[in-house]
Amino acid sequence: MSCLFCRIIAGEIPSSKVYEDEAVFAFRDINPQAAVHVLVVPKEHIESADAISADNSSRVAAVFEAIPKVAAICRLTNGYRVITNVGEDGCQSVKHIHFHVLGGEKLPENMGN
Ligand code: AMP
Ligand code: ZN
Repeated sequence: MSCLFCRIIAGEIPSSKVYEDEAVFAFRDINPQAAVHVLVVPKEHIESADAISADNSSRVAAVFEAIPKVAAICRLTNGYRVITNVGEDGCQSVKHIHFHVLGGEKLPENMGN
């Protein structure tokens, strides 16, 4: 298994887990860009948002059902930002769809993360 996030989900590579259920895994970003920076991923490998289809969108829905739980665990009571990078122009470095949850402080108004 070569995908970094599949290996993290499988426990082959250590991570700082925040939340897990049957379909979703969430862990702290190793290089945080905000006071709170968590990555929320489906356990099933999907390359990016550009690969979402009717066949796998329930896994993405599960991620979005998990995000409020992650936010509550991290006490993001005053709001947060959710970002997914796609492909080369989106600067996606890990080709396993992931949603950055950023918060814990007032974020810059621009959409960078
Ligand atoms: P992206 O650039 O959108 O593909 O985001 C990939 C994210 O994964 C970056 O924010 C990295 O800091 C993060 N990352 C890379 N390796 C690890 C790791 N082993 N554990 C946690 N986060 C990681
Ligand atoms: Zn993967």
